[in-house]
Amino acid sequence: MTSPVWHPFTQHGLNEEIPLIARTEGAILHAADGRRFVDAISSWWVTTHGHRHPRIMAAIADQAAKMDQIIFAGFTHEPAERLAAGLIEIMPAELAHVFYSDSGSTSVEVAIKMALGYWLNRGEPRHRIVVMEHSYHGDTVGTMSLGERGVYNRAYQPLLFDVSALPFPTGDGQATLDALEAACREKPAALIVEPLILGAGGMLIYTPAILAEMRAICARHDVLFIADEVMTGWGRTGTLLACEQAGVVPDILCLSKGLTGGAVPLAVTMARSEIFEAHRSDDRAKMFFHSSSYTANPIACAAGLANLEIWRDEPVLDRIADLSTRQAANLAALDHPKIVNRRQIGTITAMELAGDAPDYLDGIGPKLGAFFRARGLLLRPMGNTVYVMPPYCIEPDDLDAIYAAIAAAADEIA
Ligand SMILES: *Cc1c(COP(=O)(O)O)cnc(C)c1O
Repeated sequence: MTSPVWHPFTQHGLNEEIPLIARTEGAILHAADGRRFVDAISSWWVTTHGHRHPRIMAAIADQAAKMDQIIFAGFTHEPAERLAAGLIEIMPAELAHVFYSDSGSTSVEVAIKMALGYWLNRGEPRHRIVVMEHSYHGDTVGTMSLGERGVYNRAYQPLLFDVSALPFPTGDGQATLDALEAACREKPAALIVEPLILGAGGMLIYTPAILAEMRAICARHDVLFIADEVMTGWGRTGTLLACEQAGVVPDILCLSKGLTGGAVPLAVTMARSEIFEAHRSDDRAKMFFHSSSYTANPIACAAGLANLEIWRDEPVLDRIADLSTRQAANLAALDHPKIVNRRQIGTITAMELAGDAPDYLDGIGPKLGAFFRARGLLLRPMGNTVYVMPPYCIEPDDLDAIYAAIAAAADEIA
């Protein structure tokens, strides 16, 4: 039987097996045929506390009994109001306004539109966006424009807008900082970065000192600083936000993946008052022209509220610290001649399997994915980069099994 479903980032012509998942629990995906998969990548980085956290599931059920989607222009509802208030409490105080949307890409699109709207409404139109080499901000045309160009967006390149790209920081990052200084002299609208770690670009890590310096340069030149914490938010790097480790507060912050604990889609773009005030006026032409049909879905907002309660009432940061320690021990023990560039930030580890060209399409990535799947592990290497980003609740035995399989892959495949 062939399925009519067209899957994301999947080459259907290769007829790779697509397991049918029937149930989830904690860090485990249970397939309909009885197989069990350890979710070593948090189902593409969304699941934080674990699948089906009881409080989040209960909040969804309770809210579903009261209200489904309602229009969010000119109307409001309690889950959205309470979640916004809760976000303002837990996030840096300067980020005083919350705009809802429904995916990470959309939260970034909103951030870029806010930045351009800010400059236009101040009577000083600016359009250029500064980005970092190897970054990833989503798969819509706007966010692809901000991200690294490659085979995955080759068909669309004629439509992508021009950006100024900074080299990825190495060493003390001076070349990056110098390039940012130069770019800022051209009066761009904003710099957008993934703080401390570039995810889809290959789990590339840079230091808090460099992030702090980039923020300072933007402030000096009056260039808006946008932090895309869609992946890094909600504790992945060891702190609630990665920006915290650099002591910086962005002008605009994008959050999605872990916002509902990974249970249902929701995103927010949080902004400083100056950005909101630039759009507030008695002139309707200055309003913020953006909406999605499902803006601030009440059921998703209720899940987000439950996530905030979990952060407030449960020892989430202790779990993150514990997982980070276990990750560090496992990574250190993975002393193998074919495993190079072992690196870690908080709960995320990454490494390259040597002996293969780092090519996303033709490298050993797909072969590795099948190898891990056969061992009951959901890992999805990017080319020859293998990374481990599990839900915070993963059992020690399951984590050990992941690293044993990576060592076996290095022996057998690399
Ligand atoms: C996943 C991701 C996005 C896009 O989020 P979607 O919900 O997949 O649209 C944007 N930025 C970063 C840093 C991400 O990791």
